[in-house]
Amino acid sequence: MTAIPDITLNNGQRIPQLGFGVFLVKPQDTMAAVSTALQAGYRHIDTAEMYGNEKEVGEAIRRSGLDRDEIYVTSKLSNDTHRPDDARRAFDESLKALGFDYLDLFLIHWPLPTRYDGDYVSTWKTLEEFYRDGRARSIGVSNFQPHHLRRLHGESEIIPAVDQIEVNPYLTQDEVRGFCAEHQIAVEAWSPLGRGNVLGDPTIAAIARRAAKTPAQVVLRWHLQRGDIIFPKSVTPDRIRENIDIFDFGLSGAEVEAISALNRNERIGPDPDTFDAI
Ligand code: NAD
Repeated sequence: MTAIPDITLNNGQRIPQLGFGVFLVKPQDTMAAVSTALQAGYRHIDTAEMYGNEKEVGEAIRRSGLDRDEIYVTSKLSNDTHRPDDARRAFDESLKALGFDYLDLFLIHWPLPTRYDGDYVSTWKTLEEFYRDGRARSIGVSNFQPHHLRRLHGESEIIPAVDQIEVNPYLTQDEVRGFCAEHQIAVEAWSPLGRGNVLGDPTIAAIARRAAKTPAQVVLRWHLQRGDIIFPKSVTPDRIRENIDIFDFGLSGAEVEAISALNRNERIGPDPDTFDAI
């Protein structure tokens, strides 16, 4: 079994640095994809209410024969359930869909600064309830910019354990990562492969040839060596196995820097400062 390193979060909980993401995995494909991932050695699954596949994730975990506490599971609050009463109901529903009595990590999916009168602080305080009652072992946020995090810092008690943000070689997110490092918030890099967009880059291809690895493996390794938590997505069994086969090689400091220098501040996903879809 591949040894996946853990990261210790600011509350002492440990999270496997590599997991498996299931955004855009259709419910009917989720059981097979998660089962393949668990067989390949992944022990961390990243889902969300908005992905529509929590039920199938839970089922795949139950059928794996692994104990619940051997697998780290994250889910996220939908954009249409930020009001405290809605958030409480939504959290209950996520647990019920997964068939679990706790989540390892529960996140606010988007800050939605122009919705709900810009009040993501009440939403965060509701997540603090789930943390205190033990049903969320850690809580965090996703797509929060430093100014959103600063506001939580000033108006609430618990510092988010993670900020899950879009990061890839064309979007290195130095500012958010710097803020998170300073405040002991772990960074989770979503769409770590840039949904495949970065894999044809000549610099990455050259490093892949040198390392005798694929461009995807080089990019995932770059994330790990920068200290971020990742959960690449695939429904193709060979790629699921390829994406975890990244612990038998390393990039030099110069190679990590060469990949970081590809930054273009280019997002694939929406801008958290303007995104307000529910
Ligand atoms: P990703 O960067 O993981 O790319 C996935 C795509 O890359 C696949 O569909 C496939 O086309 C390609 N790919 C995967 N492995 C490959 C390989 N070995 N070789 C070649 N191509 C390969 O993108 P993603 O799915 O958007 O992101 C991963 C996870 O991040 C999601 O599943 C989800 O869990 C999370 N996420 C979170 C947010 C958020 O707002 N918090 C947003 C998007 C994604």
